[in-house]
Amino acid sequence: MFSFDNTYARLPQSFHRPARPATARAPMLIRFNLALAEALGLDVEGVTEERIAQLLSGQVIPVGAEPLAQAYAGHQFGHFNPQLGDGRALLLGEVIDRQGKRRDIQLKGSGPTAFSRNGDGMAALGPVLREYIVSEAFAALGVPATRALAAVATGEQVIRETVLPGAVFTRVAASHIRVGTFQFFAAQGDEEAVQRLADHVIDRHYPEARQAENPYLAMLALVAERQARLIARWLSVGFIHGVMNTDNMAISGETIDFGPCAFLDEYDPRKVFSSIDQRGRYAYANQPGIGQWNIARLAECLLPLLAEDEDKALEAANGVLKDFGDVFQAEWLDLFKAKLGLTGEGDDDRVLVSDLLEIMHQGEADFTLTFRTLSKVAGGAAVETLLEPFTVPPPGLSDWLTRWRARIEDGRTPAERQAAMEAVNPALIPRNHRIEEAIAAAVYNDFSFFHRLVDALATPYAEDPDTADLRLPPKPEERVTRTFCGT
Ligand code: AMP
Ligand code: MG
Repeated sequence: MFSFDNTYARLPQSFHRPARPATARAPMLIRFNLALAEALGLDVEGVTEERIAQLLSGQVIPVGAEPLAQAYAGHQFGHFNPQLGDGRALLLGEVIDRQGKRRDIQLKGSGPTAFSRNGDGMAALGPVLREYIVSEAFAALGVPATRALAAVATGEQVIRETVLPGAVFTRVAASHIRVGTFQFFAAQGDEEAVQRLADHVIDRHYPEARQAENPYLAMLALVAERQARLIARWLSVGFIHGVMNTDNMAISGETIDFGPCAFLDEYDPRKVFSSIDQRGRYAYANQPGIGQWNIARLAECLLPLLAEDEDKALEAANGVLKDFGDVFQAEWLDLFKAKLGLTGEGDDDRVLVSDLLEIMHQGEADFTLTFRTLSKVAGGAAVETLLEPFTVPPPGLSDWLTRWRARIEDGRTPAERQAAMEAVNPALIPRNHRIEEAIAAAVYNDFSFFHRLVDALATPYAEDPDTADLRLPPKPEERVTRTFCGT
């Protein structure tokens, strides 16, 4: 099924350890992403579901695969752990997709590895389905993220707080190299390995950096820029990653590790879902600052490569960190201007956006529906409809609307403006209570709601009458305010 061409396995031995998937009693394919398989150029013709379940639960090792666990370190909630690594995942190998891009094929939940410490190396069904739903939703929303190729139930039991069904997730990524991968070698003072990894990253993700005077500095700047843009995208769709540890930040600029992540229902910049994030380190509005903090940790690893002179290296690193802030601010404003239907440049655009967000916060407005409804108001819908996404009467909304109406006049027709706004303001996001509902049914072997949700999320900007229920915010009794890590 795969034509592997593995480069990570060729890197020195300290980068990885061989890994063997665990036995799964009764592998059963839950879902296979045929469109992605085709984009990856996989040869699936005549391959049965049983065979896919065998391959993508690790029961059969495909020809050319070199299963390995990657070594990495990481700052977890600000505390450095020098030894993390793939404890419940293995890299099967790399394929070149139809566009000529190299993509990792990884099994997650496939049993213990050399890096498992006390963990069992398994994944429970719930986190596997959550990752499937959210990564495919991101693909449809146009937010860079790792992808879901398959979810396979293993027939094994996984022991967490309760006994849960086990599953294996097949993740497709531009690569699985993290900020923490650099930290792993830097913490050991292994500068040669840091450089080797940086060269691999440049060849793989940032070939344009080779032309620069200092390719490593150029690489750092590109990683920072992509990350700043990514986090702006998260904020624009109300996404909270939940565990932005440095081992969960991909060097490629893709969103990775959908553990306790969730989307906002009502807007609150301090919102936290993750049960383990007790102090709100990874709250919605903290994400850009944390992203910058993580890039600073990457810069520290690269310092010896940035300049001969230590002061010059620090100066260069600080320049990158400042640029991170500027790129984020500019990208955030562009995205939110588009959400509000603002074209051109207005002096007070940033204030206009911030004021709306403040009104939404005060009025406990549903994030997604407010922007979607605003799009319709821009197209001529009654202004009162904008009250619907609000929980409490929004102070200052009518004044704000007067300012907004004056600002959006740009020669477009209302219909044109609405179409442009609806193309950037999704009607459907993977709401937390719906993800939980899909998981709750799946635990009893009913995958129908999971499939319905994944299918619907493929067209997040459409308003299909059949999926109207999925677009609604949770009723008070349906609200899910806590999410849990997959471990
Ligand atoms: P995460 O919370 O997914 O970012 O994982 C943090 C670290 O814990 C990584 O090194 C994982 O490989 C490891 N880990 C998480 N869950 C398990 C598990 N069930 N068994 C072994 N290692 C795990
Ligand atoms: Mg992780």
